[in-house]
Amino acid sequence: MKEFVKSITSPYEKELIETRRYLHRHPELSFEETNTAEYIRSTLTSLGIPLMEGISGTSTVAIIKGQKPGPCIAFRADIDALPVEEENDLPYKSEVPGVMHACGHDIHTAVLLTFAKILAAHPELVCGTVRLIFQAAEEKLPGGAKTLCEEGVMNGVDFVYGFHCASAFPLGTIAVTPRAYSAAIGIYEVKIHGKGGHGGYPQNALNPVPVACMVGSALNQILAEKKNPLEGGVLTVSYINGGQYPNIITDTVTLGGNVRTLNNELIDKVFDSIHSISKGICAGFGLTCDVTTTLGYPAAINVPEEIETVRSVTKDLGYTVYERPDALGGEDFAYYLLEKPGAYFQIGMADPERPITSSPHHNCHFQLDERGITEALEMELGLYLRVTGQM
Ligand SMILES: [Zn+2]
Ligand SMILES: [Zn+2]
Repeated sequence: MKEFVKSITSPYEKELIETRRYLHRHPELSFEETNTAEYIRSTLTSLGIPLMEGISGTSTVAIIKGQKPGPCIAFRADIDALPVEEENDLPYKSEVPGVMHACGHDIHTAVLLTFAKILAAHPELVCGTVRLIFQAAEEKLPGGAKTLCEEGVMNGVDFVYGFHCASAFPLGTIAVTPRAYSAAIGIYEVKIHGKGGHGGYPQNALNPVPVACMVGSALNQILAEKKNPLEGGVLTVSYINGGQYPNIITDTVTLGGNVRTLNNELIDKVFDSIHSISKGICAGFGLTCDVTTTLGYPAAINVPEEIETVRSVTKDLGYTVYERPDALGGEDFAYYLLEKPGAYFQIGMADPERPITSSPHHNCHFQLDERGITEALEMELGLYLRVTGQM
């Protein structure tokens, strides 16, 4: 497989890096990727690739139909950048003040666009249909994937794949997990209403501060009771705000935090508990509270068989499989996996010899090794050939 894939991708490597650098120089924030979308659409149109109708905003979906029968395979790239001022000294440094492709979505976009060029130039490789999803706004809730799914992007799709470049792993390393790639993420806030008064006469007031402390402690206990102890998850009480003076009992206290779980049922149960426990404790002391819980992204649950396919392609391309431990990040690729089987994995792009390439994502020094970008293109093509049974 390696030799064949290389023979197809090699002629595109220079263009791939140029595309990536162009995108890197022109980053745009989530939901505002108008020029990026225009660049993607004009490139696709110039290749004669039709775009899916009914897609709103700055997302773009390309449809490549083959002459031979086969499945409908979707690949996704996110296209947005972040409100970060780039501190790298690079010839292709961001030209937009305060905005930077600090998560590598320029790489995802460049790889998928180049994959489109390859498929357009090699119609003999296309079996069935390929749907290329250039998704807006992964970085900002509610994210772009949810809308795309509502607009039917997954209708008729058999399998969906995507990858994230990663500074945490060295070049040549593909990090996989056959379980949840990312967590279901949510936030909550409890606003406790008491009755203010004099610190010397608590009997005439309803002090929300000690009650807020009890609510915070009780919320902290929820996962211990609701979660399988062998599974990951976290509930953080991140803030308590209220009161200011020693002799004044305040009217209200607000506390809140975040919740992350590795399965989509658990976070709903946790949210229910946050409501019932907060209200119960407050009621016990004669106070009331308003509780809000908001789901961010669901957990992205990989399908073990599809991860096995990624593993086999990784090995056949001569790269290393890394079995990644569970982690509690968020990723809106979850919405596609709620609808169709697929896999989301990471491609290591750090060069151990150059520590700057290990700078964390979202950091102003984020800067991956570009050799990883060609590896990503090989993985995408290799995966396609394997899933369509051509190799
Ligand atoms: Zn990010
Ligand atoms: Zn990202």
